[in-house]
Amino acid sequence: MFGSPGYSRHRHILFHSRVYLQCYSAGILCSISPLLVFRILRMSPISTLKRLLKSYFSQFSVLIFIVFSWLASPQLLAQPPIEVTDEILREVFPGAQEYSVKSGEPPVYRALNINPDSTELETVGYLFETPDLPPEEIGYSAPVDVLVGMDLKGTITGIKILHYIESYKSIRGDFINSEYFPQQFDDKNIVEGFRIGRDVDGISRATITSWAVARGVRNAARRIAETYLSDSEFVSLTSSDAVALRVLADQSWDDMTENGFVVNWIIPQPDTSELHLSLAFMGHDGLGEIMVGDVDYSRADREASARVRDGNMLLVGIDGNSTQPFRQERLAVQQGENIFPIERRRFVYVGSADYGKIANQVRFAGAMVLDPDIDLAQPFDVLYNTGGRVGEFGSIARISYQVAPIPLALSTGQPVPPELLPEFENDLTAFENEGLYASLINDAPWFDVGVLLLLLAMVMLAFLTKNAKIRWVTLAFTLVYLGWMDGGFVSVSHITNFVKIGPIMFRSDLPQLVIILFTLITTLFWGRVFCSSLCPFGALQDFISHFTPRHFQKELPAAIHEKAIYIKYIILIFLIVMAFSFTNLSLFQYFEPFGTIFYFSQSYLLWGILAAFLLASVFISRFYCRYACPLGAGLGVIALISPWRIKRVSQCDVCKVCEQACPTGAISGPEIDFKECVRCDVCESKLIARAGVCKHDMEAVKVRIKHWDAVGATN
Ligand code: SF4
Ligand code: SF4
Ligand code: SF4
Repeated sequence: MFGSPGYSRHRHILFHSRVYLQCYSAGILCSISPLLVFRILRMSPISTLKRLLKSYFSQFSVLIFIVFSWLASPQLLAQPPIEVTDEILREVFPGAQEYSVKSGEPPVYRALNINPDSTELETVGYLFETPDLPPEEIGYSAPVDVLVGMDLKGTITGIKILHYIESYKSIRGDFINSEYFPQQFDDKNIVEGFRIGRDVDGISRATITSWAVARGVRNAARRIAETYLSDSEFVSLTSSDAVALRVLADQSWDDMTENGFVVNWIIPQPDTSELHLSLAFMGHDGLGEIMVGDVDYSRADREASARVRDGNMLLVGIDGNSTQPFRQERLAVQQGENIFPIERRRFVYVGSADYGKIANQVRFAGAMVLDPDIDLAQPFDVLYNTGGRVGEFGSIARISYQVAPIPLALSTGQPVPPELLPEFENDLTAFENEGLYASLINDAPWFDVGVLLLLLAMVMLAFLTKNAKIRWVTLAFTLVYLGWMDGGFVSVSHITNFVKIGPIMFRSDLPQLVIILFTLITTLFWGRVFCSSLCPFGALQDFISHFTPRHFQKELPAAIHEKAIYIKYIILIFLIVMAFSFTNLSLFQYFEPFGTIFYFSQSYLLWGILAAFLLASVFISRFYCRYACPLGAGLGVIALISPWRIKRVSQCDVCKVCEQACPTGAISGPEIDFKECVRCDVCESKLIARAGVCKHDMEAVKVRIKHWDAVGATN
């Protein structure tokens, strides 16, 4: 199936058909969504339904269907995956003469060249797609598909990101493939590190996708190496033998003595002097090199091979103050009833114990070549004759030796039991689970985190002191730094992506996690503090209103305003439904102009949408916040449970000053619609909070209210 040339085309047809279907489904759902909204407002279901049928449905549903149908048009959908063609294969694995169709398990394209000697095609490398080697790495909001080329030595020849979804991809274009990022993988061997920030530079404002690409390439390449490149360095490094030897190499002589691999044996001599022997199994080249160093081991091994045909070596370290010299003829091995004398040919000199683990532990070393009839899986005794004539065992010292499981497995060629091995850093299991959230701290951009914390402190200072000057400075900071310089602002895509992939989306972006936690916590306690001065687009609208002559500023008629504020909730529901039902689709940029202006979109359509919103905000303050912002809608829903709200005083029953000044039209008489309030402080700064009364006396208020007489007459 994967090699089928029609596969991608069918996938795209399916893709578009599903999107049409789901857009219309979402349209129907969103048309009835006001029912839910009115329920939130505690209206009765019957009156809700009546109202829905009479007014809202007739006014908005047609519009919604038109908008959603337009959105479902293929040219506006997320970019489809790049199809793997010969041209793409050549780009990722240059230099091959031909490429096979995808086949095998796991599936690969083979890069082929004609062998000049045999004139036959031979494989010179492999190309593979990361989705074929699960688990898929999830990027910002969807799996990241990468085509990887690798030669027979496990060196990456190139990568091509076939498909990914980034928040502002439609605005920035295919920025991951077009930037320097993919080239960093060229000529990288799979035994090397692939950590973003340490081994590979990430992409600014696309940290999660950078991580997903790096991990996906590394995991897939190592799996392919395990299957197709049995001679590669990676496979040899990760074999259980290699890991087992690393375990032993990491141990000290004392560790080895403690765990029984080295047995220290004190043999009292008849004259009370002592012979100290240290025994250690060396039935594997790697073991021998660890114990006595590669030079001494290879010499001993060569000599032993010349003397006896087979048998494993048991290291004998020699030390002590014995007045009798050590004699190999006095050694023997006993297993059960069988005694195996160590003949001269079965004992070799190893060296003066200057290298390996034995260095400085004994004075010199030899090795006995154990008889092949000894069952290494069973314990055996080593005997040393301390008395009588040589060759007789008049007085015998004895010690038991059991070959430990790891050396035994190494010497017999059996796989080392995995439970005896720790996770090796290059081991597949280890790197798959490696530091899911570790990078959050390890690779955090601490300067950015510091600047962000400063900004958050200013936001809170402005909010708590109600100081207008501090707030305007904070708004400027937010607009310039968070908007244009850093681009790390919160977006509705965070909500939709959280719906799609859960908290894992924060695994490698500490600044993002900090700003989102701040937003959630402050909204839960005080309402939309974020909208007050931490949203760059809110700040931009505030600056526009600030510099617009007051006589330009208008209000929509109350009847229209009251209905229009629900458009943003409908948009939010639509985006969430789409995120749930179709993970490859990215629509939020048509409803959220943040990316257009702060990432400098290349799309005229998006600039047109932005211009319309900014123009509207010239005449109606915070127009976008009032009617269209799905993020504001999400925060508004959370704000409904915020306990610490804005205080109102008795004068507010008749006074209209704050109502007229509110930038979002959230005040109606004495009531504040808290989900619409952006905590801008305009009304609160008119109160003397501590005294709990308005700082304006009623006479002052009367003067400022145009229709005081009419209002006063009705009260
Ligand atoms: S409503 Fe939207 S645009 Fe306005 S301040 Fe809040 S998040 Fe920003
Ligand atoms: S000016 Fe004072 S009395 Fe008037 S609405 Fe604002 S807080 Fe209430
Ligand atoms: S003026 Fe309006 S938006 Fe600002 S704090 Fe008061 S109610 Fe909220």
